[in-house]
Amino acid sequence: MALFEKAPAKINLALDVLSKRDDGFHNVEMLMTTIDLADRIKLTSLEEDRIEISLESRFVPSDERNLAYKAAFAFKKKYGIEKGVQIHIEKSIPVSAGLGGGSSDAAAVLRGLNRLWSLDRPMGELAELGADIGSDVPFCVYGNTGIAKGRGEIVEKLAPPPPCWVVLAKPDIGVSTRTIFQRIILDDLTHPNTDQIISALENKDFDQMCCNIGNVLENITLKVYPEVRRIKNAMIQAGAAGTLMSGSGPTVYGLVEHYTTAKRIYNGMRGFCHEVYLVRLLG
Ligand code: ATP
Repeated sequence: MALFEKAPAKINLALDVLSKRDDGFHNVEMLMTTIDLADRIKLTSLEEDRIEISLESRFVPSDERNLAYKAAFAFKKKYGIEKGVQIHIEKSIPVSAGLGGGSSDAAAVLRGLNRLWSLDRPMGELAELGADIGSDVPFCVYGNTGIAKGRGEIVEKLAPPPPCWVVLAKPDIGVSTRTIFQRIILDDLTHPNTDQIISALENKDFDQMCCNIGNVLENITLKVYPEVRRIKNAMIQAGAAGTLMSGSGPTVYGLVEHYTTAKRIYNGMRGFCHEVYLVRLLG
């Protein structure tokens, strides 16, 4: 038996770091929304008790280091499943980009195995299971739009953003989330006004949303990779209503209300980076 599960990328409308915890993690507030750029996961049940991963990517391991493997392992252990699974990942989300590709793959495996083996466990339980795999995984289990708090394990659903276009540009560098978090100096952060974004979502106010998007990691990544600023400036000049780095970067996105402007920005950005996408928010 086999089934497919979609694993959409996310962007951060807000990423705030509130404090450092005793366990070494940070307390965060991450307002995220999924976009129409997705990996595709095929799960095939095996009689033999093993987890196999296949994918074509030079950047992602196909062994137990893969987050999809970790998700399947955790799922089988939690529910005492003695069958195995073959996981094929068709990767479309750029890797180490700040778009949560690995986390979304892991979340899709949790949702998919829940269906494949007809366990019918509630999403909240799957999200809890995902929290040990990565801080974005609980949000990715639910998808759409939400805010993740604590170290990412507390997820509240939010109203979808007003419909708009998103231009994504990823400079040709991979950013290690861990390295960026190590550079955080809590007293130096300029915090985004997350409540203003939530109210913009509720009021479907595109301009209010664009004025308030913010990411405390942006300035840290900008210092190491100045090309991130060049991309932001180019997007604003070309007419984006708001731009922000997603996650720990380096992908920058621009929010645009009208398709013709979005297409112009998309074409312009292809002069700056190899990896440029024009997508919609999934809401
Ligand atoms: P994060 O902010 O969580 O690091 P990201 O979106 O910046 O996420 P990912 O594409 O998830 O980055 O990849 C981060 C790291 O995780 C890479 O080193 C990659 O090799 C590893 N990884 C493990 N499994 C996967 C997977 N299924 N897809 C992508 N990357 C994976």
